[in-house]
Amino acid sequence: MSGVTVRVPAKVNVQLAVGGARADGFHDLANVFLAVDLFDEVTARPAACLTVTCEGPDADLVPLDASNLAARAAILLAERHGIAPDVHLHIVKDIPVAGGMAGGSADGAAALLACDALWELGSSREELLEICAELGSDVPFSLVGGAALGVGRGERLTPLEVGGSFHWVFALADGGLSTPAVYGEFDRLTEGVRVPDPVASPALLAALRSGDPVALAGALANDLQPAALSLRPSLAAVLETGLAAGALSGLVSGSGPTTAFLAKDAESARSVAEALTASPTCRTARTALSPTPGATILA
Ligand code: ATP
Repeated sequence: MSGVTVRVPAKVNVQLAVGGARADGFHDLANVFLAVDLFDEVTARPAACLTVTCEGPDADLVPLDASNLAARAAILLAERHGIAPDVHLHIVKDIPVAGGMAGGSADGAAALLACDALWELGSSREELLEICAELGSDVPFSLVGGAALGVGRGERLTPLEVGGSFHWVFALADGGLSTPAVYGEFDRLTEGVRVPDPVASPALLAALRSGDPVALAGALANDLQPAALSLRPSLAAVLETGLAAGALSGLVSGSGPTTAFLAKDAESARSVAEALTASPTCRTARTALSPTPGATILA
């Protein structure tokens, strides 16, 4: 086989409920993921040794060594099968880097699927999901896509029903925010406070099922938002700009610094994106539709 290309979506967290820090430092989560149609593509080709290349506007921010999640996925899969991870992985990157949209996780899931096909290993869905969970909390969702509730560290997934398409606008910031730093700030801000156990909001799950953007806008919630705003106060102005331009609601996406706005339809999404792009508060804005399928092998 000369090469396998996998397309993989970004995600937005429509609810991110975060529990207090556990003894192992991780947090229990109730994480409602929605896959959006901003995609990376990962191509796996036979090679003499493991190499990674990347193209795209943020390519210079992507590590090309064994710390790249795509490389780690290839290494873990090869180890399981007692083979050498001799593969060239090329990433075409459109998902913002360190933007809270799970771009690295997406590439990990895509590389796993691509290498499994290239090496003709025929792994089951369960085996692939196990390796995804080992790679990181957001990686299993990148494989399955659609909409899902993740509990535990976010990696134990239950698929969710979605009754329609939702129109999103993502405001991309200059520079990333480190996910561990945002959790560290969450711990600092909640010190001495009893943090409730994280649970998925029944109103949010009902809004997803109904496909009604107004209901979903009223239920969006991200417990990491105060921490992200504390580390990056300028995000408040981005949120204000999107809301003033007619978005139904806005929130920090995951650990940020990308902000996500829900619009009532495609036309409103376009005008919110135009207003954000024209404002000095963010680098640029992109529209996207959800839900969309997870990592998929392209013909
Ligand atoms: P999440 O939403 O899962 O918290 P994120 O979207 O905020 O993640 P990523 O784009 O996944 O962040 O990148 C976080 C860091 O991971 C980057 O700064 C980079 O050093 C590293 N990284 C490793 N592999 C990749 C990859 N394939 N693409 C992008 N970043 C990667």
